[in-house]
Amino acid sequence: MMAYFLTDLAELTRHLGRTRQIWQHDARQDWFQTDATTPSPLVAGRPARSAKGFFFAEQEHVFEFDGRYFRETLPRPKPFALIGVSSCDLVALAYQDQFFADDPHYQARRQQGLLVGLECTTPCTHGFCPTVDAGPGARAGTADLVLHPLDDGWLLTATSTQGEDSLRGLSLAAASECAQQLRDKQLADCEQQFPDDHHIVEGARRLNAGEIAEDLWQHLGIQCLSCSGCTSLCPTCSCYGVQDQSSEQTISRRRFWDSCLYDGFQREASQHNPSADAGARVQRFWYHKFSDDFRQDFGRYGCVGCGRCEVTCPGVIGVHSVMKRICHE
Ligand code: SF4
Ligand code: SF4
Repeated sequence: MMAYFLTDLAELTRHLGRTRQIWQHDARQDWFQTDATTPSPLVAGRPARSAKGFFFAEQEHVFEFDGRYFRETLPRPKPFALIGVSSCDLVALAYQDQFFADDPHYQARRQQGLLVGLECTTPCTHGFCPTVDAGPGARAGTADLVLHPLDDGWLLTATSTQGEDSLRGLSLAAASECAQQLRDKQLADCEQQFPDDHHIVEGARRLNAGEIAEDLWQHLGIQCLSCSGCTSLCPTCSCYGVQDQSSEQTISRRRFWDSCLYDGFQREASQHNPSADAGARVQRFWYHKFSDDFRQDFGRYGCVGCGRCEVTCPGVIGVHSVMKRICHE
């Protein structure tokens, strides 16, 4: 792992842009493709949408069949770099990498993507990444390059072989001990500024101890509008549905983001539905985020503390609202 001092971020963007498309997010808080020769300023923090859609497409065809042969529909993206991925979203991508480890469509995009993380120095609204070990500093093994803002430039750390290779040809000075110390101090200060979130810890404990009354899930279910805002924006949600479409010559299978908050998500062909009521669906969602069973499978909780569900839920049953209700029961 090599650390460098970078005076001008535009220099890095131009360098990476010679061989890749460049994506970043801005004050509108969404991702956009930028002209690497005249890059926009980088904005720290959580964009409205996470980076999952770059790899797990919102919808795509997974194969076609012409009556005789199956045709592959694998994506062939050009190399690209995502600049400014927040630490929580980097952890979420590492989670998705595990889920989609054997998925050729996800992997075809993932292998072309260079992840350039940007560490936060102030907490974002509703975020609680330190509580779930996802930030504010980038976690090991989640990025290729990591940026951290300094007073007079950037600390740039190459955290993977691909990241180190991507810097070849760029003239960079090694980072000083002072720069490293300033980074550590800024991250520690940032952690201190997060609001009290003991309700997350206690809520997860109660959920795993089976201490939540069925009634509470039913009450929370009344507030769910099945809009799928939470599952679409949650960076670790990975459920999808498939649908076959036919034309005169071909049948193609499309897959698309699904939501466990939809009535029909688990409905079987027999019409049996294991989560027929909204309370059961809300319960299922939160078990997926905070159950110890998933922690055993993935090495961590399914929540990275980004706070997006709290921001978006029109029924006011995002993560803080639900965990506080669980704690106050
Ligand atoms: S965002 Fe809220 S209302 Fe919409 S599906 Fe999720 S829990 Fe239900
Ligand atoms: S459950 Fe909510 S806070 Fe946790 S990762 Fe998903 S959107 Fe973010």
